[in-house]
Amino acid sequence: MARVHDDDLRHGFATRAIHAGQAPDPTTGAIMPPIYQTSTYVQDGLGRHRGFEYARTRNPTRDALERNVAALEGGRHGLAWASGLAATDAILKLLSAGDHVVCGENVYGGTHRLMQQIFARLGLAFSFVDTRDPEIIDRACTPATRMLFVETPTNPMMRLTDLATAGRLARERQLLFVVDNTFATPYLQNPLAFGADLVMHSSTKYLNGHSDMVGGMIVTARDDLAERLAFLQNASGAVPGPMDCWLALRGTKTLPLRMARHDQSGRRIAGWLSERSEVQRVYYPGLPTHEQHELACRQMRGFGGMVSFDLGSLEGARRVVEATRIFAFAESLGGVESLIGHPASMTHASVPRAMREGMGLTDGLVRLSVGIEDPDDLIADLRQALDRAGKA
Ligand SMILES: *Cc1c(COP(=O)(O)O)cnc(C)c1O
Repeated sequence: MARVHDDDLRHGFATRAIHAGQAPDPTTGAIMPPIYQTSTYVQDGLGRHRGFEYARTRNPTRDALERNVAALEGGRHGLAWASGLAATDAILKLLSAGDHVVCGENVYGGTHRLMQQIFARLGLAFSFVDTRDPEIIDRACTPATRMLFVETPTNPMMRLTDLATAGRLARERQLLFVVDNTFATPYLQNPLAFGADLVMHSSTKYLNGHSDMVGGMIVTARDDLAERLAFLQNASGAVPGPMDCWLALRGTKTLPLRMARHDQSGRRIAGWLSERSEVQRVYYPGLPTHEQHELACRQMRGFGGMVSFDLGSLEGARRVVEATRIFAFAESLGGVESLIGHPASMTHASVPRAMREGMGLTDGLVRLSVGIEDPDDLIADLRQALDRAGKA
């Protein structure tokens, strides 16, 4: 766990992305934070050390990343983890057996699996509900409820939770309010400003942005939660290595540039797809036809590069995902390169079928992670894939 320096919070987003947490190395002047590839640190004497004793507890490269992402989210404390799921795992360990969690029904498949197949056996109880409606959240709460966990926009249905209303509700009921901000990133949305206690990220995705590491982040403004999470980080040990922290830190430097392009191309492609007759429905919060478009405009500064669309059948989806040439058929998202995926058989295969279909996650649904290539090339690629799928 590392705390942001006050100076780092004064600057604009792009300046923070490049400088927050990253003073030149004091011993050499190296402008980039070194990769401190070490497991231990020589101590000066009995009970005297320089703040670093063992690398599970602290590592200077990790400190730099933790300060950087905390500054981007407008929080005070950052904590880096070995993966996004390791971050969520630590968040759930803030609770005790008997506690109840209200969670969005359309969260990342692995989040659902972690809750239902691991923590439910250890005595936590979960209700998965449609968090688009604050009244449904309220009704799902019991006297044992301690946490509200939401993802907004969701993966892959692009549903939103009203962060300000959910934040008020969580405060009234004294719930820990946790937001998975992986899709929006701090460039487009800052949940802490709407009353979230904790923001988590899979830094594997947009924060790193280059599909070359796996990692997770938690940011909070609360000292008590940061302290407990730092204890868990050291006591459970799901920490990232210094090389992965360095890669993520290299990634965040260009986050504003990349996100601006993802957003621009995402809007264009979502609009283009909605004109195609093969496409039954497009899910993108930036489209005026999205049922929560107005909320998206209120709590987000843009809509990003994630676009889902329904082709009506498994066969239709199969033909398109197998026909694209630039959009690579793969799991994951948020990298500079464009990806195409089939949520029902890939990212959300661990979600029970009835639950998938109940929320519109059909076998015909295809999800795009629109990269930062030339948008004309991306549209041409989708055009040839839809044309070929239509003729097959
Ligand atoms: C990928 C992802 C996760 C899990 O993160 P990992 O780094 O793969 O462990 C959690 N939430 C969302 C929204 C994701 O996309």
